[in-house]
Amino acid sequence: MKYRTNPRNNTQISVLGFGCMRFPRTAFTINQKKTEELLTRAAEAGVNYFDTAYLYPGSEAALGKFIAKLNAEGQRDKIYVATKLPYRQCRSAEDAEKIFAEQKKLLCTDYIDYYLVHMLGDAAAFEKCRDMGIIRWLGEEKERGEIRNIGFSYHGGTAGFKELVDIYPWDFCQIQLNYMDDISQAGVAGLKYAGDAGLPVIIMEPLRSGKLVNLPQEAQDLLTREQPGYSPAEFSFRWLWNFPEVACILSGMNEAAQLEDNLNAAEHAKAGVLTEESASLYTSVKEILNAKTAVPCTGCGYCMPCPHGVDIPSVFAAYNKRCSEGFVSGMAAYITCTSLKEKSAAASACIKCGLCEKKCPQGILIRDYLDETKAVMEGLPYRLSLFIVKKFLGPRNG
Ligand code: SF4
Ligand code: SF4
Repeated sequence: MKYRTNPRNNTQISVLGFGCMRFPRTAFTINQKKTEELLTRAAEAGVNYFDTAYLYPGSEAALGKFIAKLNAEGQRDKIYVATKLPYRQCRSAEDAEKIFAEQKKLLCTDYIDYYLVHMLGDAAAFEKCRDMGIIRWLGEEKERGEIRNIGFSYHGGTAGFKELVDIYPWDFCQIQLNYMDDISQAGVAGLKYAGDAGLPVIIMEPLRSGKLVNLPQEAQDLLTREQPGYSPAEFSFRWLWNFPEVACILSGMNEAAQLEDNLNAAEHAKAGVLTEESASLYTSVKEILNAKTAVPCTGCGYCMPCPHGVDIPSVFAAYNKRCSEGFVSGMAAYITCTSLKEKSAAASACIKCGLCEKKCPQGILIRDYLDETKAVMEGLPYRLSLFIVKKFLGPRNG
């Protein structure tokens, strides 16, 4: 494993971190056995940064069981545990304190190494946290040693990110970055700004929720021709590790093969090595992907639940599938995700209340895209298919 130095405190962070948002599952619950096997293998291979959040269902408890084993072996200090405060659920510092106590209990630890204000929106949201006493409380926890580093995670644009970097003496920050988001979200400009401010930057969504692993055939062929031996994940990671400002890339590894591929890639992590030729390859792959993506949805699900039943991420995934894989695949996915529930989950069920857009970290104009999805996906073939599904599987309400 390779490590990068945290410029704030000279500790070593592994270039590959474990993103704990999507642990392997069995039906409705996390597969604890498989999860612990993956966590154990990652830690043995030198991964020392594990990132979870209060809002990731079951994740803190699952990671906590692994940490309990480390405690028993006297190995807790071998890893850094990162988790996040859902500040939107707080009305006061006391609320934050209660959640923090619950998190420590779930994670089986007395302290959190990296504690983030989760999805901090903008300077106004920061001021709201300050007014509630949360910022003061964070400082007090740090003085007590129960929080070792205070940071924030962010999904907005570059200008808002720079404001947040300047607003408080953070110890670190976490942004979404990959070769598709070089000028969206905080972007490369934001990464460099944080780096210049001396902040270690943790990267989330390096593979855009796996979408940069499952490349369209045309992009895969180009990659195989130009960079034989690189997996799509390594291709993406190398672009990120090329920036010295990147401290650690979080990857949500839920299969042993993925983990091994990512570990192998981490052995080649280097900054400042990409040539102009390889940079143009990223541009070409990006162009292919953009041409085949209708909606820039990562499938994170933060916009859910929709009070009117629209399955927003699935509906967008099916629409994107139609663009990348063709009519039949896209339509099959759309019918499956919209028609097998009691109430319609289709784009046409949207009443445009706008609640979902307030929660989307990608700033997607969900209502507009649902209109577009409805126009493209809910024509005569869809209505005929619905009729057949109802006839054979029974009526659905709504
Ligand atoms: S705008 Fe539409 S999709 Fe979004 S929450 Fe409201 S009804 Fe649901
Ligand atoms: S619409 Fe936004 S919040 Fe919803 S799944 Fe897509 S990216 Fe996530």
